[in-house]
Amino acid sequence: MRLEAYATTDAGPVRENNEDNFLVDEDSGFFIVADGMGGHAAGEIASKLAVDAIRELLQGGFDPDETQLARAVDNEDDLLRERLRYAMNQASARIRREAALQPAWEGMGTTVAVLLVEGDQAHVAHVGDSRIYLWRDGVLSRLTRDHTVVQDEIDSGRLTPEMARKVRHRNYLTQSVGYHGPVEPETATRPLLPGDVFLLCSDGVTDPLDDPDLARICAETDYPALAEALVREALAAGGEDNVTAVTVRVG
Ligand code: CA
Repeated sequence: MRLEAYATTDAGPVRENNEDNFLVDEDSGFFIVADGMGGHAAGEIASKLAVDAIRELLQGGFDPDETQLARAVDNEDDLLRERLRYAMNQASARIRREAALQPAWEGMGTTVAVLLVEGDQAHVAHVGDSRIYLWRDGVLSRLTRDHTVVQDEIDSGRLTPEMARKVRHRNYLTQSVGYHGPVEPETATRPLLPGDVFLLCSDGVTDPLDDPDLARICAETDYPALAEALVREALAAGGEDNVTAVTVRVG
């Protein structure tokens, strides 16, 4: 299926660096948003390393047999998701190796959200709190579950989603590529329909805007301007973080 993708990123009003990175490859159906963290601009390095490593591993001379070391897979979709898991773990190891060489980079890490379109299937995988949404027939669905302390607290009933938006520790991650070492990305596969729009967003978008805001912006905006509108509205709503949105429409 033909894909039409756009990306917008903005450092925001406060930060000197933009530690978000993204990849848009319409021909390969391959899209990533990565939100780095770490002092001394290390977050920028971590998110770039992750994007480069995952692209290399998934598109380069890749030996799929290696991905089967950890678990047996018996169909193509499982194999692809296993490749994503493998690529994220390789990226994590690479970031840790780099961090070990530079004291200033100690503790750097990154979120990763990946959308991979193959044939009429969409594969999503993520680590951290960058999110992937699907806008289909006027309904917005969140396809990822944040790897954060507050998400665990919401799931266990200790916090409501409304309370969670206000607590100070809302950005503490339970998993990140690099900093946390080996990762267990969540992966899923779903069939595509023409007209589907996927959003990949860093938390610079989803902190200031809640899901109803995002749905409203999707409904109001002509598709080609959507990524830009999401970033603009996040900043207008008081966002101070780096802000990144990638949108992918299925033709
Ligand atoms: Ca961020």
